[in-house]
Amino acid sequence: MLQCSIDLDKGGTQTGYLKLIHSDDRYSCSTIPVPIISMKNGDGPVIFLSAGVHGDEYAGIAAIRHFLFHQKLETIKGQLIFMPMTNYPAFCAVSRVSPLDNLNLNRIFPGNPVGSPTEQIASFIDTQILPRVDFVLDFHTGASKSDWIPCTFIYGIKNNLMQEKVDAVSCFGTDYSMVIPGGGSAGSLLSACEKHNVPSISTEIRGGATLVSEAFHIALAGLYRVLKLRGVLEEIPIRSHDSGTSFLQFQKIESLMAPIDGMLVPEYTLGEKVNEGQLAGRIYPIDDLTRSPVDIRYDCEGLISMCSTSTLKKRGDYICNVANEIDISEYL
Ligand SMILES: [Zn+2]
Repeated sequence: MLQCSIDLDKGGTQTGYLKLIHSDDRYSCSTIPVPIISMKNGDGPVIFLSAGVHGDEYAGIAAIRHFLFHQKLETIKGQLIFMPMTNYPAFCAVSRVSPLDNLNLNRIFPGNPVGSPTEQIASFIDTQILPRVDFVLDFHTGASKSDWIPCTFIYGIKNNLMQEKVDAVSCFGTDYSMVIPGGGSAGSLLSACEKHNVPSISTEIRGGATLVSEAFHIALAGLYRVLKLRGVLEEIPIRSHDSGTSFLQFQKIESLMAPIDGMLVPEYTLGEKVNEGQLAGRIYPIDDLTRSPVDIRYDCEGLISMCSTSTLKKRGDYICNVANEIDISEYL
């Protein structure tokens, strides 16, 4: 079992790390310190805040760093447990997956306490953090390969957790919230939260393996608002968000795909509403400049919620996803 340098039962602000021991040509006898911070001030809600589950997604990492630098312990009621760079080896490598075992942390919960480095991090969260928390906020962005409309993200499951998840994303402050019917990826952190009966939300706020000001401020404002909603903070330096959110669902779970290898010339804009049959873009073959481009057309109407940031495509690579507004009361 991964050892933690701080005592999560203790009060006060503690900054420490998980002692990830890994032996290869680079690390041999080293400890890889995966950051963890606890702010505990008396009894109250216990909330886990995670970012950097994928190492090249920065908005949540920046929001947590800002919060930790500015927020005083005395203003908090209960406990906040932060892992701002949850898959720290992936963060250091600017990578979605860990360079140590090539695993995606968001696909391997509940992990394995004696498994590979990424499996050990998942196991620590599953056994040492989730059993003690009341709520989880897991920050994501589109990473290097995708750009998302700024949105929150919940699993659409008709159970006792759904109302709390809907309340949280309604106050977060994004215009849209994506609902994944019946739960998303097996092995994700949100799936693990469902198994532990803990309400959880995540985000997808822009992407492109960079940090833009818009994404940082959306993540930071949402962090404050959710902590106020959950009773950890009384006062926040951000206006409340009273206009709610529109709930979206992907029209088709599979994305629009590239029909051939080549260079994508897109005809869409993130957040744009499109119609069935409309031109999404063209792929120009790059092996023979005399060959005609191949048109890609939408097979349904809706809103462009996520699009690929890469231009050179292999057949089957995704282009974009189309989502439609839904009535969230179907899930309540
Ligand atoms: Zn992610």
